[in-house]
Amino acid sequence: MAVINTDTIVIGAGPVGLFQAFQLGLLGLNTHVIDALPEAGGQCVALYPDKPIYDVPGVPVCTGRELAQLLLAQARPFLPRDPASGQIANLHLNDQVASVQPLADGGFEIATQQGLQFHCRAVFVAAGAGAFVPRTLNVAALDGAANVHYHLPEALSAAPWVGQHLVMAGGGEEALTAVEALMDGPADARPASLTLLHRRDQFQAPPEQEARVRAWIAQGQVKLALGLPSGADLQGGRVTALQCLGADGATHALPLDHLLIRLGLSPKLGPLVDWGFQLDRKQVSVSPDGYQSSVKGIYAVGDINTYPGKKRLLLCGFHEATLAAHHALAQLKPDQPQHLQYTTTSTLLHQRLGLA
Ligand SMILES: Cc1cc2nc3c(=O)[nH]c(=O)nc-3n(C[C@H](O)[C@H](O)[C@H](O)COP(=O)(O)OP(=O)(O)OC[C@H]3O[C@@H](n4cnc5c(N)ncnc54)[C@H](O)[C@@H]3O)c2cc1C
Repeated sequence: MAVINTDTIVIGAGPVGLFQAFQLGLLGLNTHVIDALPEAGGQCVALYPDKPIYDVPGVPVCTGRELAQLLLAQARPFLPRDPASGQIANLHLNDQVASVQPLADGGFEIATQQGLQFHCRAVFVAAGAGAFVPRTLNVAALDGAANVHYHLPEALSAAPWVGQHLVMAGGGEEALTAVEALMDGPADARPASLTLLHRRDQFQAPPEQEARVRAWIAQGQVKLALGLPSGADLQGGRVTALQCLGADGATHALPLDHLLIRLGLSPKLGPLVDWGFQLDRKQVSVSPDGYQSSVKGIYAVGDINTYPGKKRLLLCGFHEATLAAHHALAQLKPDQPQHLQYTTTSTLLHQRLGLA
């Protein structure tokens, strides 16, 4: 795959990474943003999409998902959607940054797990608490199986399990929300059967949500299987049945066409610890004038960084992203005058925003 050359790379498409892309664009630096999740928005979308946020300046209240949508809309001039595909060419989702290596010319080479390679001049680590990866079942045979899934697709009708037998593992809010999405979705986008597999007959979810799912179970529209997965039968790289240890002490086979694991997400710092900058426990140490790490040209913004007085708040991350972008511009273009310009009055900024 050809190396992609770009001014900057933003690692993480959480709220701070999205605002970082906007600030870099305003300053005339192009960027590519990479995130391990299938959707932009970081914690706001992965952990509290429907909960209200009350302390973003100028936004009296919005939900986590609404904030992510607002940030994407604001960054649109610099993260434009291709009208034909609807995709944002410089936003790479479902991919994790695996390595960041310095280059002889002072830039960096970035490699991702999906095989993308970038050369850039500055890196902005907006990695929050690390890459959000789905928790999985403790059954080694499931690794890499083609019919094991963790996410619901945006269009349910495109799900691989439509018209087939789906087992969903989980008993928390994540799993019950997915059951609701499938049961409330169009009838022709549903699986032929839906079995909810949980280790005990107790769910960890809001009472109204549990009541809805219990009603489907009582009506036989959703089957409930109780047991602890202990193994799996495989054929041609696909799981054909889960072996589950029941309360009776016996192991029972649970046949399936597809397995959807909905046990929540956990952040993994992962390879970030090997990228050469100084860490203080699990945060990247930065200097508070420009949020640069101990490696020149690598910045850390948002929840991932630490400095005296750090607060893990959206507002603080947005401030850090702004100063980091200005600091990087001064370093990358030392001969260019650094006049502060306002978006209200600057013709140049209007041009960059596509307004003039
Ligand atoms: C329940 C809850 C409620 C909150 N309410 C508020 C509130 O009311 N007000 C407020 O100000 N703050 C609130 N916060 C905190 C706020 O959500 C965080 O401060 C904010 O999300 C930090 O943004 P971020 O972009 O730095 O990190 P994140 O939102 O964590 O995003 C980081 C992104 O980086 C990705 N990533 C990490 N490593 C890699 C890698 N190697 N490769 C690819 N991608 C990677 C992750 O997948 C993730 O999507 C709340 C947090 C929680 C959990």
